[in-house]
Amino acid sequence: MPKSPQSHLDPRQPFVLDTTKLPRQPGATRALKRVIAAPPDFGVELIRVPEKSDVELDLVLTSVSEGVYVSGRVRGSLTGECGRCLNEIGESFDVPLAELFAYEDSTTEETTDEDEVGRMQGDLIDLEPAVLDAVVLTLPTNPLCRPDCPGLCPECGVHFDDLPADHSHEDVDPRWAALRNLTSNEE
Ligand SMILES: [Zn+2]
Ligand SMILES: [Zn+2]
Repeated sequence: MPKSPQSHLDPRQPFVLDTTKLPRQPGATRALKRVIAAPPDFGVELIRVPEKSDVELDLVLTSVSEGVYVSGRVRGSLTGECGRCLNEIGESFDVPLAELFAYEDSTTEETTDEDEVGRMQGDLIDLEPAVLDAVVLTLPTNPLCRPDCPGLCPECGVHFDDLPADHSHEDVDPRWAALRNLTSNEE
């Protein structure tokens, strides 16, 4: 079901934070730890958070005059393919999250775009867009299995790790090929 910004948040949804227990008094804080199942399509083409894998939210909610400031870390695992050799990549991520959510009808809500500052619905915060952004923006568009991955030989497609150091294909250089033809013509 498509979600519109106007739809009502359900406090039972994993990404929805209920701030009822956080006093609306600037400076009040409340720690929040939660492990949720990763949603589908969480990542980029070559590297992503496996669907339903654990995503750990380790957050502190802080009351500010205009809303609630959510900060902390998001942790989880990644799976993907090396952009050079297509070997499988499995690693973890641990990224910072810092996002302000404005109270409904606050000055901040009235004077900022929804892109700049999140919106609360009553006491509820939908953290999903902020979490997805915080993680996806740190993902490499060209992930590597290791920083110095030599990739695959463009001629035979074998990983350079599995080939001898002097691996080469004959007549790769067209100048040598031309020279060779010249020599054979003379014979
Ligand atoms: Zn690689
Ligand atoms: Zn080769």
